[in-house]
Amino acid sequence: VQAFDFIIVGAGSAGCVLANRLSKASNGKNGARVLLLEAGKPDTHPLMRIPAGFSKLYRSQFDWNFSTNPQTALRSRSLYWPRGKTLGGSSSINAMIYVRGHRQDYDGWQLPGWSYDEVLPVFKQMEDFFAGPSHYHGAGGELRVEPAYATGLTDAFIEAGQAAGLAHNPDFNGASQDGVGHFHTTIRGGERWSAADAFLKPVLGRPNLLTMTGVQVERVIFEPDGGSQRAVGVAYKLNGIEFIARAEQAVVLSAGAVQSPQLLMLSGIGPADHLRQHELEVVFDAPNVGQNLQDHLALPVIYRAQNTNTLDGADNPLQLARYLWNKSGPLASNIAEGGGFVRLAPNAIAPDLQFHFAAAFFSNHGFDKAKGQMFSIGPTLLQPESRGSIRLRSNLVTDAPIIDPCYGQAPIDLLILRAGLRLAREIAASPPLAGLQRGEFQPGADKNSDSALLEYVRRSCQTIYHPTSSCRMGLDSGSVVDERLAVRGVSGLYVADASVMPTVVRGNTNAPTMMIAEQASRWLLGQ
Ligand SMILES: Cc1cc2nc3c(=O)[nH]c(=O)nc-3n(C[C@H](O)[C@H](O)[C@H](O)COP(=O)(O)OP(=O)(O)OC[C@H]3O[C@@H](n4cnc5c(N)ncnc54)[C@H](O)[C@@H]3O)c2cc1C
Repeated sequence: VQAFDFIIVGAGSAGCVLANRLSKASNGKNGARVLLLEAGKPDTHPLMRIPAGFSKLYRSQFDWNFSTNPQTALRSRSLYWPRGKTLGGSSSINAMIYVRGHRQDYDGWQLPGWSYDEVLPVFKQMEDFFAGPSHYHGAGGELRVEPAYATGLTDAFIEAGQAAGLAHNPDFNGASQDGVGHFHTTIRGGERWSAADAFLKPVLGRPNLLTMTGVQVERVIFEPDGGSQRAVGVAYKLNGIEFIARAEQAVVLSAGAVQSPQLLMLSGIGPADHLRQHELEVVFDAPNVGQNLQDHLALPVIYRAQNTNTLDGADNPLQLARYLWNKSGPLASNIAEGGGFVRLAPNAIAPDLQFHFAAAFFSNHGFDKAKGQMFSIGPTLLQPESRGSIRLRSNLVTDAPIIDPCYGQAPIDLLILRAGLRLAREIAASPPLAGLQRGEFQPGADKNSDSALLEYVRRSCQTIYHPTSSCRMGLDSGSVVDERLAVRGVSGLYVADASVMPTVVRGNTNAPTMMIAEQASRWLLGQ
């Protein structure tokens, strides 16, 4: 048994921020003793550094390689769900887009400490924005944010969006989210800048921080404390031998939207019937653990490109040499270089659809291949009404939980994607993009009726990798964690990661998750 002040489970986007902040010395006091436990191996693969290489890490040893159960509304397809399994977690295999979400997301949560005006300074404090500080951006923080590498086709998409009536937006994290523009990215000098790069690696030498990789935590350990139970540590196995690490102040679960609820349930916190079904002792009956799961769905409209200015061939020897020489060229591209946010519903108070544009053929996570130069416009559903769940498959941590996002359970979700497809076609038919394409490749211009397009949505949509909300934060007793991220029903246990978002934000979820961890660290340190 080893003793620490804090134990953090999972060195992903959230866990790396927590490890940095909780182990930091301040006001002349030594930093707390922190143990960071990560199931994956170190983030040493060279493709993690090269932005354009991210999808090559799919189904590698750095990916949990989850799948959903068959989705009824999606013609019973099981969808592939990549999740990072390494230092940096999903931020080490993601597409590096830096979007914080809409003001309305945070104000809509209606939780003390989480309004947009309260979280904006937190985002800014963590950030090192390439253009320096402003009302909306910070400088000098650990998280480098730079403009995405842009191919000419991405510029053309942005111009075409304007020709189709959308505003140009140079900064989706600025005063307004609406419009089309280039994304900002968590890339530094042409290389991925993951949560591990920004927050963990610079502090690995702290004597009070112990980081262990290849350690999959099995459960939280509790001891009676007055009338309730207190989290006092975690159990994990190494080479088949069980070890226990003790936490004198708190255990923080940062295992992500799939595995934080799994760990809570394996530790006896979850729906009592479900736990008993798996022969688990019930520590606290929490029916909503694993419920309220949300995600962003997307699918592409793909065009044949007129010229060869796509990212196809980005990894040819010349470009590889260029990248190795000075980290420039198309290998420095995060593929989804530009996009936009639009409102389709007549009375939408904020965007309900996002576009991801790629100067490449991008279908089925990049697993499908096609000959020739192509570009893809990907409408993305921002505010799903469907709610899914994470449930245990067995009482073993090594068995992936049952992931049921219930995609399309609310029919409106699929209708918004269909409307997004039509708008994507309008943009592709506008100058200058219209002159740069040679016709629609997928789904194909002949698929134009409402029913044919809806069928394409059902058969082709995929996750854009933003699962959240399976350990919902709230003020009500039915929420899993309170507004300071403490797990209800026990003491000494916290969840800080994408799973606590009450609703998924309108945008990509990496920056919001790191902000959540920053907030958690302040409260855990009593600041
Ligand atoms: C392919 C892909 C592309 C994406 N693209 C973008 C993008 O461009 N922009 C953006 O903003 N967001 C993107 N996202 C989403 C974003 O990266 C995630 O929302 C964010 O990283 C989630 O952070 P997290 O801390 O909740 O979980 P994660 O970062 O997934 O971290 C969880 C960590 O816990 C570890 N773990 C799990 N169980 C255990 C256990 N029992 N014991 C020990 N360790 C455990 C995991 O191995 C992992 O390292 C993408 C995600 C993916 C997968």
